[in-house]
Amino acid sequence: MQFLTADRLWDGTGQPSLVRPLVKINEGRVDAVERSLLGPATCTGEHRDFPGCTILPGLIDTHVHLVFSALPTNQAIIEQVTRETHEELFERATRNAQAALRAGITTVRDCGGKANVIQKLRDAIRAGAILGPDILSCGMPITTALGHCNWLGLIANTPDEVRDAVGRMLDEGADFLKVMATGGNMTPTSDPMKAQYDFASLALIADAARAVGKHAAAHVLSRAALPDVVKANYRTIEHCDWRVEEYRYEFLPDLARQIIDQQQYVGLTVSGTMRRAFLPEIRNDTGGPVRRLDARFACERQMIEAGVPFTLHSDAGVRMTPIERFDLGLRAAQIELKLTPAEVLRAVTATAAIAIGLPDRGMLTPGKRADLIVVEGDPLRDLESLGKVKAVMKAGQWISP
Ligand SMILES: [Zn+2]
Repeated sequence: MQFLTADRLWDGTGQPSLVRPLVKINEGRVDAVERSLLGPATCTGEHRDFPGCTILPGLIDTHVHLVFSALPTNQAIIEQVTRETHEELFERATRNAQAALRAGITTVRDCGGKANVIQKLRDAIRAGAILGPDILSCGMPITTALGHCNWLGLIANTPDEVRDAVGRMLDEGADFLKVMATGGNMTPTSDPMKAQYDFASLALIADAARAVGKHAAAHVLSRAALPDVVKANYRTIEHCDWRVEEYRYEFLPDLARQIIDQQQYVGLTVSGTMRRAFLPEIRNDTGGPVRRLDARFACERQMIEAGVPFTLHSDAGVRMTPIERFDLGLRAAQIELKLTPAEVLRAVTATAAIAIGLPDRGMLTPGKRADLIVVEGDPLRDLESLGKVKAVMKAGQWISP
């Protein structure tokens, strides 16, 4: 049995923080969380005390790209991913995964790698050969010939090709399926305002995932594809952008109602270019994604107020988005989406765990996996605390810094 005490604990259930908690951990799981009445000396077993600190569930980043390098331009990232060998990509993915874990992210869902690099890393971490967070991998995202992230290599233009791509990803050990339902900002030959697939192909992917007990995620960067993605009942809608024209967003309450009724989750993106509150250079960026931020955040706020379940993710690896600075994205989300620190934290712990099908984590309650972090100060008062990670535990094991 391991014992852990600190000034406060936030368990992710929605309850307020517990003062002077005692956490008991047994065989990698939370055994009990109670008010610490006994002095540390009375605990038998391993005991660690963290004065001035808060214990939280380990963070879950539901959308990262471990093979990307967060260089300043999309072109540089694409050039690098295209040029490098699988061994080089594996090394970068390993470094990124380890940086994430040290920053308190104990689970990541990788939404697009190259070849089977990410599955290999996932398996090596699972086997204990490499230290890292738990990884869920889609393998490569399904896209069209000139479509978003076509340079990752999984092209499917026709329904038959889509079926083949699905079969290949499941054969290669994908944990979930990912489709680029619209074009993306990163890929100049693609158009974020246009759907890349019709409803039949989108439904084929989501249904194939469900048929084998997995889930599917759809990248949606404009409203062109949103109704079909909702109708096909994708578990997670990545970015979930309601843009209808260059600078215009249009929220549809009925569509939001359907998302809620079907228990779909939207993944709101707080990558580098959305962190204008902290990165002065972003404010001078005249590119479309930055100029659209006010309209985008206003629309996302409507979604949140309508009650749509949401997670927050970094899209780490895209430009200016180093994986270990998830804290900056979360602080930006608090400001831009007018959230409380508790709402932000729930989105990346309890809600994230359910969204990606890992109900064994995300909360610190008896029976859950002992994935936890200890941060200096009180993140429920100030999310800046998330940048001051003192200790990380994954499945009951301390990760040395
Ligand atoms: Zn992405």
